[in-house]
Amino acid sequence: MTDYESVIGLETHVQLKTKSKMWCGCANEFGAEPNTHVCPVCLGLPGVLPVANEEALRLTALTGLLLNCTVSRVAKFDRKNYFYPDVPKNYQITQYARPSTANGYLDFEFSGGIARVRITRAHLEEDVGKNFHFERTSGVDFNRAGVPLLEIVSEPDITSADMAHAYLSGLKEVLMYGGVSDCDMEKGMVRCDVNVSVRPSGTQELGAKIEIKNMNSFSGVRRALEYEIPRQIAVLENGGKLVQSTRRWDDVAGVTEEMRTKEHAHDYRYFPEPDLMPFEPTDEWLAEVKKRMVELPLARKQRFMRDYQLPAADAQTFVWDLPLGDYFENVARQSRNPKAVANWIINNLRAKLGETPTALADLKFKPEGILELIGLVESKRISSSIAQQVFSEMFETGESPTAIVQKKGLAQVSDAGAIEQFCDEVIAANPGPVSDFRNGKAAALNYLKGQVMKLSKGKADPAVVGEILEQKAKG
Ligand SMILES: [Zn+2]
Repeated sequence: MTDYESVIGLETHVQLKTKSKMWCGCANEFGAEPNTHVCPVCLGLPGVLPVANEEALRLTALTGLLLNCTVSRVAKFDRKNYFYPDVPKNYQITQYARPSTANGYLDFEFSGGIARVRITRAHLEEDVGKNFHFERTSGVDFNRAGVPLLEIVSEPDITSADMAHAYLSGLKEVLMYGGVSDCDMEKGMVRCDVNVSVRPSGTQELGAKIEIKNMNSFSGVRRALEYEIPRQIAVLENGGKLVQSTRRWDDVAGVTEEMRTKEHAHDYRYFPEPDLMPFEPTDEWLAEVKKRMVELPLARKQRFMRDYQLPAADAQTFVWDLPLGDYFENVARQSRNPKAVANWIINNLRAKLGETPTALADLKFKPEGILELIGLVESKRISSSIAQQVFSEMFETGESPTAIVQKKGLAQVSDAGAIEQFCDEVIAANPGPVSDFRNGKAAALNYLKGQVMKLSKGKADPAVVGEILEQKAKG
């Protein structure tokens, strides 16, 4: 039996985060009543002229930089002609021969390491409207027509369904980080065409390329590939032949179906858009875009793991929650124990922020409060369970941990005399567990220890309690 490998490339369409559409002043806004964000330009009425949205051009260049691409000094717009009800002009303005940016790569986490997929190009185009099919009629909503769309084309460097999923997740993270797109899948802001072929392992010649069109979820892409790759292999194994074709994914049935083969493929008759000048960014313009560069999520994660010795899961939390990560850094820079800082911020602060309407920017306590709290625990002035109480109080009132401990008398009791008293009381009140312990049931001691802690209202030093209690309980 022959082993096969799959060769996958993705074309990802992403709606850019601009206030207005690509060629007109209509709002780029999701969820409005149908055909309320339209004008003669985006409806393709005769006699109108497009004016390029400069922010969309900036976001395209920024994406190029984030994806390690070259930003072209000359970008041109072309018309891609096709007749379809949701394309009001009967052509789409896109960048064909001279895209804004090309030749980059994306690094992302995959299978316990870092994978790299090369980016062929990222070019600017416009979105189309949306067709709705009712029982007896169909309708078109043109609110989305003319919304700026970035098409990010990858090289066929992806080798599995899981890798495709990881690439898309990594790409989404970069685009959201850069403020390029909100990437809201529910709102259709990211769509994907998948090109996949198979070939005997180790061979160089590419198999017939099969395209799966219009995927709107990353999990759908994975499932479609998990179906399509074995399907193609089975065809070849049975002596069949694959032809270049376009298929659609039926999410409910979980299968891909053929839409058209190469013979019927579109001929788009591209030609230069005569109403738009080529775009030639100046040095100053590019310098402005460069200022908007951000640290990439993967780099941030690696830096947090390296500089603060955080485990991957903690670092990932601070990648997803950017403001929380920045807050952590601000505190951790001043601490010898960044892991403890991360624990307080992830386990306590984040939970409190989730429970209350408080925003990170409106915290009552100073960031140094966390350092102080950690210091109180490390110096054994308070136990870690009391520290939880102190944190809550600090969160509510903004008072410093030291002040709270003093005011409420929460300082840890390490004094052997006081702890002995607590132990005597607990032993007298719990003859059952005491005799269990004497009969070799070690767990009974933990129960007794819990009772002592309770009696001391959590203030007793647990280590001292353990020692004294064990001696006393042995009798
Ligand atoms: Zn418009």
